[in-house]
Amino acid sequence: MATAEYSIADMKHFMGMMEGMYDIVRLIDPIECKELEFDENHMIHSHPCYDVWNADHRCKDCSSYRACMSGSRLEKTELFRGTVFHIQSNPVHLVQPDGSRYDCVLELITSTKATETDKKNLVEKERQEYAPALRLRDPLTGLYNREGFIKAVRDVLINGPRKPRLMVASDIIQFRLIQSLFGKEKCNEILLEISRIIRRYSNENAIFGRITEDRFALCIAEEIFNPDRIDHSVEEVRQLLSGTEFRLEVRTGIYRIKDQELSIPTMFDRAEMALDTIRENSRLHYAYFDDSMMENILYRQKVIGEFDAALEAGDYHIFLQPQVTHDGRIHGAEALARLIKNGKIIPPVRFIGILEDAGLIGRLDSYIWELAVQQLKKWQNTEFADLYISVNISALDFYYIDVYETLTSLMEKYGVAREMLRLEITETALMTDPEKQLPLIQQLREQGFLVEIDDFGKGYSSLSMLKDIEADALKIDMGFLSDSENTNRGEKILRSIIDMSRELDMETITEGVETKDQLQGLLDKGCEMFQGYYFAKPMSVEDFEKLYKTGIFIEQN
Ligand code: C2E
Ligand code: MG
Ligand code: MG
Repeated sequence: MATAEYSIADMKHFMGMMEGMYDIVRLIDPIECKELEFDENHMIHSHPCYDVWNADHRCKDCSSYRACMSGSRLEKTELFRGTVFHIQSNPVHLVQPDGSRYDCVLELITSTKATETDKKNLVEKERQEYAPALRLRDPLTGLYNREGFIKAVRDVLINGPRKPRLMVASDIIQFRLIQSLFGKEKCNEILLEISRIIRRYSNENAIFGRITEDRFALCIAEEIFNPDRIDHSVEEVRQLLSGTEFRLEVRTGIYRIKDQELSIPTMFDRAEMALDTIRENSRLHYAYFDDSMMENILYRQKVIGEFDAALEAGDYHIFLQPQVTHDGRIHGAEALARLIKNGKIIPPVRFIGILEDAGLIGRLDSYIWELAVQQLKKWQNTEFADLYISVNISALDFYYIDVYETLTSLMEKYGVAREMLRLEITETALMTDPEKQLPLIQQLREQGFLVEIDDFGKGYSSLSMLKDIEADALKIDMGFLSDSENTNRGEKILRSIIDMSRELDMETITEGVETKDQLQGLLDKGCEMFQGYYFAKPMSVEDFEKLYKTGIFIEQN
């Protein structure tokens, strides 16, 4: 049945006629959950519907909302505060003076005082009719809950027209923080505002749900999806927090439903996986799932799941990369972690970040440090006795283990002099929590460890950090210079860093030296110590020992 069209004048006239026949005659916008009034020739929103009906009672299964969406008249009998209401919801298109159409619902309501029998019958009827429907709804917003969403999506995928569809997951970032800053009521207001906006777009081509506290789901036809619209909606919701410093952020993950055979929770998981890749990203607001993400997730799970067994089996090893003077004379080496499985050597980029995210890095690092100290112990009283080993310390080690206690007890356990184990800490690591870390570094140095600032220049705070921290060496990464198009300026910066380092009584080690020209340039600027493929790549301890034995000087390639 086609929805009736009325001009505003006709509607006013019609409503006037109905007023004698019904107890309540009102026009509502069920998407915004608001009553409508006429102001001159315009329609304006007035009070929210649930001022009359209260949110818990009606909005969960609003028959006017369903009438508006389906375009057909619906009737419903409700018991509310001792009165029986018979509600007729008539969808109408109002034609506004500018010719545009406004979809709304004319509610014609009669009410009678409920008898005991009415009450009994209606309560029972409601229990039977609406309880299952309510179970599928989120009580706060009236949107589908997880179960309802899955059911509705399944229905549209099976019975709806075949078309490319997307599964979308959107999260409010730092929702817990919003809760503690502004309180639960404000959060509910935000969630209701979001659901009101969402309802505007809801139809058989777009099914929405609130899946968990702060996570919304959407299954939508690809042809009508526009991720920028989410940004616009977020901007609207932000108004609720205007006047505060807090900026509400939403991130969205999208899965293109390629395989209709997948379960709906799996499709949603994939949208969530895409979302997780940009949760911390301030630039990207949405991301699409791709198959590499799946491989990535499985790989991450494998590294984490097998971590204990791999440590136990001794699959984590150290490789040593020589640190040399310009002539290739080896003074020591950096210990770099490698995971060796079935003869395959896996580099640290494939596991360090994963173990950091999983909170396991402290355990790996203390294991690696122990391997290094064991090696120093083996070298005592041999031809390798003068060689030091540098180990890496992750910024996150400070959160998971007592770095100071771990290092000092290792040196004691093996009876190795502290200056033989050098500690590499990146400037970014030092600056994540300087108040805690700078005194700790100081303490380690007082105990005789030598501290090197790793990857100097790669971070953002290099210079200001040097003001506050005393270290024994600065490790400059060639990489940060080679990206630059302006080599001339890069050269000047490098020279200044080396000069400054000398003035601050720090040794400079340049890593990533790959060519003779680079070496010459660095020598001209006064750098004395090098590490890089030009001299040698990281290698097994055995190979390192062999290389050292061949005469201390590395033959340059
Ligand atoms: P890093 O501490 O800055 O180590 C230097 C990295 O540069 C090593 O990569 C090394 O192989 C590489 N490199 C050395 N010379 C050259 C060169 O001439 N050219 C190029 N392109 N690269 C060169 P690797 O072994 O893959 O380690 C990468 C990073 O992983 C390390 O950077 C360090 O941040 C981290 N890492 C390695 N082992 C450990 C560990 O045991 N614990 C922790 N927390 N991090 C580690
Ligand atoms: Mg390092
Ligand atoms: Mg480095």
